[in-house]
This record gives sequence, C-alpha cells and structure tokens, in this order.
Amino acid sequence: MKSLLIALVVTSASCAHSYFGVTNQGATTRLCNAPELVAIGNDVPAAYHKAIVNSFKYWNEAIGKQVFFDAGKVNFNAYSDDAAGFVIVGVLNKEADEETVRPGHNKAVTFFKYRKDDGCIAQVKVLINPKTFGNDLDKFETTVRHEFGHVLGFQHSAVFTDLMFDAPSSESTTQNPRDASDDEVQAVRELYKH
Ligand SMILES: [Zn+2]
Repeated sequence: MKSLLIALVVTSASCAHSYFGVTNQGATTRLCNAPELVAIGNDVPAAYHKAIVNSFKYWNEAIGKQVFFDAGKVNFNAYSDDAAGFVIVGVLNKEADEETVRPGHNKAVTFFKYRKDDGCIAQVKVLINPKTFGNDLDKFETTVRHEFGHVLGFQHSAVFTDLMFDAPSSESTTQNPRDASDDEVQAVRELYKH
C-alpha cells in the first residue's frame, strides 16, 4: 500500500513538475508524525505570533485535516536542546547560521532533521528574520506559509505563481497573504491523506 501511495504522488506531480523532495531509498519526504506540535520560541516578537499561527492553520485548512497542532509559546528558542520534538519557529541568529543562509535569502530559513531509516521529517526549525519585514505582516505571513510548505515536505517550485516559488515575498503580490496554487494543494492533500 505504501509503494502505491508513492507512485501516485510521483504521477500526479509529473504533469507539471515534482513538488516534493525525495530522500533516501525512494521515500517521499513528509512529516513523520502528523499532527505535529508547533511551538513559537521566546525570541519571537509578539507582533508576529498571530501571522505564524495563521500560517500553519492555513495549511491545516488547505489539506483538510489537522497536520499542525498549536503548542503555543515556549520558554526557549530554536537553538535550545529543548526544541527537539517540536516544529519550532524562532528568530534567525545570523551568526549561528551565517554559513547556511544564502545571500539575499535572509528573510527566513527552514532546517530539517530526517529520520534515518525512512527519510521522513523528524524535526524542524523555522527561523525568521523579523527586521526584514518591518510592519508588513501580509508579506511576513506569505513567507511563513512558504516556510511551512517546506515543513510539509515541499521543495521549491519553478512555477512563478506557486507559493513554493523561490523567494515569493520579494515579488509584488496581488493577493496578501498569498495562497498555495491548486496544484500545490492537490499534491499536499495526496501526501497527507493517510
Ligand atoms: Zn523556500
């Protein structure tokens, strides 16, 4: 049954392009244990909390089931050992992550730990850089929705109108915050239907 699911995902995505990263032994990348707890680290300014919660609730609604569970604010940050076991949202510490953040892509970055045996996503850090958004909470929410797309298993899309297009927040948008495309919603529903 498992191999059938993987085949279906690959087939449905191949008409346009491949949406999901494939890791070791052909396993499709997705969160190991949904619903996953999402925690907001104590370094995230309060003004951004609502947009973060809205972002993962957006994906719950798009998928049609609860993939993310709101754990609220926690008393540590994404760089703490206590962050294990959570999808945690924290503030990018540029010094700690200087080597991994690409020039011009300093708005947000997502880091993963994969489970060794089957390659599913075991642990995630979403790191944001609030200073780069100022008061534009719509742009911020678009970026966080995009990062939570990565959390779900999406890699970047080559389609300009996709939410997973690289650096969506740097373009002008006609719709704020931006929604996932129908193809993306269909692909993620397929991935999380079991
Ligand atoms: Zn991205």
